[in-house]
Amino acid sequence: MGLAECLGVPAISTGQIFRANMADRTELGMMVERYMNAGEFVPDAVTNPLVALRLSAPDAAGGFVLDGYPRSLEQAHALRDVLAAERIQLDVVLELTAPKEKLIERLMHRAACEHRSDDTAEIFGHRLDMYHQRTEPLATYYAEQDLLEVVDASGTAEQVHQAMMDVLREHSLA
Ligand code: AMP
Repeated sequence: MGLAECLGVPAISTGQIFRANMADRTELGMMVERYMNAGEFVPDAVTNPLVALRLSAPDAAGGFVLDGYPRSLEQAHALRDVLAAERIQLDVVLELTAPKEKLIERLMHRAACEHRSDDTAEIFGHRLDMYHQRTEPLATYYAEQDLLEVVDASGTAEQVHQAMMDVLREHSLA
């Protein structure tokens, strides 16, 4: 069972939303395809309104888990504004860390199982660079707001799940 399922709230994964739209050949899917396939960020003008709309859906009223968003300070600021307008406060931000070799090992495994178009060594290298440049600064941003919890994600899926649940319990969120 995933984290969101355990908490009884929707999981909102921007990557997942984009992939579903690509599979269904929707207008959104066709628009984001070239960014996804290149390991580039989908433009904020597309991503931010999409998340804002999703957060305003009734099923998100009782809480949600955001996965893969925000990915940059600009997105974090957009999220802050949307949440402020809805009078919602983030409870906690989890930063999952694992050594690069582990990530590559998992990527190879996922590439063999899921055939994601962006799971090639070259695109992955670019996504990792994007992560370091654009996403890593979020750790400081959220640490300054006392929201950040770093979780060791180098273990098995079950161990990582338990580690995240432990953090959520410490925050009385689970
Ligand atoms: P993920 O499933 O989180 O690994 O995301 C896969 C791809 O979807 C990324 O490499 C981007 O092309 C796109 N994507 C997912 N989330 C975002 C986001 N928050 N901002 C921009 N692009 C995103």
